[in-house]
Amino acid sequence: MFPVNNNDNTPRLAPPLQPRRFEMFIDGRWTQGSATAQVTRYSPSHEVPVSVYPAAGVDDVQQAVAAARRAFDHGTWARSSGALRAGVLLRTAALIRQHSEALALQETFETGKPISQARGEVLGAAGIWEYAAGQAQALHGDSFNNLGDSLLGLVTREPVGVVGLITPWNFPFFILAERLPFILASGCTVVAKPSELTSGTTLMLAGLMQEAGLPDGVLNVLTGPGAVLGQAISAHADIDMVSFTGSTEVGRLTMAAATGNMKKVGLELGGKNPQVVFADADLDAAADAIVFGICFNAGQCCVSGSRLIVERSVEQALTEKICALLDKVRIGDPLHEGTQVGSITEARHLERVLGYIEQGRREGARLLRGGQRIESPTGMYLQPTVFADVTPQMVIAREEIFGPVLTITAFDSFEQAMALANDTPFGLAASLWSRNLETALQATRQIKAGRVWVNTTIAGGPELPSGGFKQSGIGREAGRYGVEEYTELKSVHVQLGARTPWVSA
Ligand code: NAD
Repeated sequence: MFPVNNNDNTPRLAPPLQPRRFEMFIDGRWTQGSATAQVTRYSPSHEVPVSVYPAAGVDDVQQAVAAARRAFDHGTWARSSGALRAGVLLRTAALIRQHSEALALQETFETGKPISQARGEVLGAAGIWEYAAGQAQALHGDSFNNLGDSLLGLVTREPVGVVGLITPWNFPFFILAERLPFILASGCTVVAKPSELTSGTTLMLAGLMQEAGLPDGVLNVLTGPGAVLGQAISAHADIDMVSFTGSTEVGRLTMAAATGNMKKVGLELGGKNPQVVFADADLDAAADAIVFGICFNAGQCCVSGSRLIVERSVEQALTEKICALLDKVRIGDPLHEGTQVGSITEARHLERVLGYIEQGRREGARLLRGGQRIESPTGMYLQPTVFADVTPQMVIAREEIFGPVLTITAFDSFEQAMALANDTPFGLAASLWSRNLETALQATRQIKAGRVWVNTTIAGGPELPSGGFKQSGIGREAGRYGVEEYTELKSVHVQLGARTPWVSA
């Protein structure tokens, strides 16, 4: 049956007849670099080629880093006024809005996500660029006027230098927006390497930034094999900081490679995020958010609330509500306007998610919904899957599945709920559901996660920082913290008047 639960059977949009051919962007020029091979990206939902990219090598990393280094050291960007940088970022935001439909289509072609959500992602990204522009002018240091009559202390912020920016495939344009404009606002220059599965919108953005007046060399974009380029960027001695978003496993490799020149490291990694529901919660609201949390982007979402931890007295009622809502979710062709869940982004990843589902069955969890791939002429669609009677030791409760799979575990006391929620090596996000202010606030205090939602999930804007506790990462993105992350602090001590001599006359 396909599309599933999707009444809108006439797609108004279609995949391209020919793939779009991209070049890389190095030092303000479009180039094939040293590439002798190309990477062809097929639409995961339509199985036609949608993009072709140069497969860059280590020589291209050298070229891109040299360009970013020159641009940084020259100072036209790093030492320019915040107002100048804000102007470029705002013009970029306007161009993103102007080209939003083309960007959203490219995102859908490469990721398989519903077009309505790709549009939301692109327009949301434009808003982040606008916010980050303000941060270019808001960025400031500190002063100490309390060091006595003869000493004044200043703390200034300087851009850290050349930043290597490595991004994943799940929200290619949005994640870029949560990092790149903040990095540029600080005055840094960038060598970006998007995922080889979804490089299109990052290259399109480079074109828009050029149009917006970004000086040559400030942003460079490389495409090609992640392991080769990602490691070369992470290890490069002329890169001062690497900002990596992706799996905890690859984050560890990035961090190890960065030790050569002790570069600063920002890591935004995986999660296994609890949805903790207390008995006094609004169960209808919680059920809807839980369904959204595991289905959004087909569960390929770092903050997906994939572990339901529910008070035993309401477990059955909540589970029934969740299953009833899941049956209504519209899964199918991402180019249909009404689709809510599109294709899994990559065949290898689909196999991985199906492997976890099989593991859940073997471990003795009770399968309540889903568990199968959905038959379709093209594409990789997965039934949203729910497992009950999940114990905290099971692999499906411990590892990030990164698919539409929910595990359910019951608790009997507040203390047990907190212990279960924190029983994970990750600490990215958590959602809490209670009508009792004290329960909600006590839980907020005890949860070890970088982002906590109370009576909602996956909500917010660029004002608040994002990042993880424990093995979910190091550092923060967005908000004023997101721009400060890409600066070094310098303490300046200014002697006022004569200094007391050390050697007596
Ligand atoms: P991934 O770790 O496989 O790849 C991420 C990026 O690293 C890609 O650009 C890839 O090409 C590159 N890469 C591959 N091998 C590399 C290496 N050896 N050294 C350096 N870079 C290398 O992750 P993914 O599959 O693209 O994305 C999914 C993961 O990302 C999930 O774990 C998800 O939770 C995480 N994620 C985290 C956040 C966050 O903000 N915390 C946001 C989105 C995704």
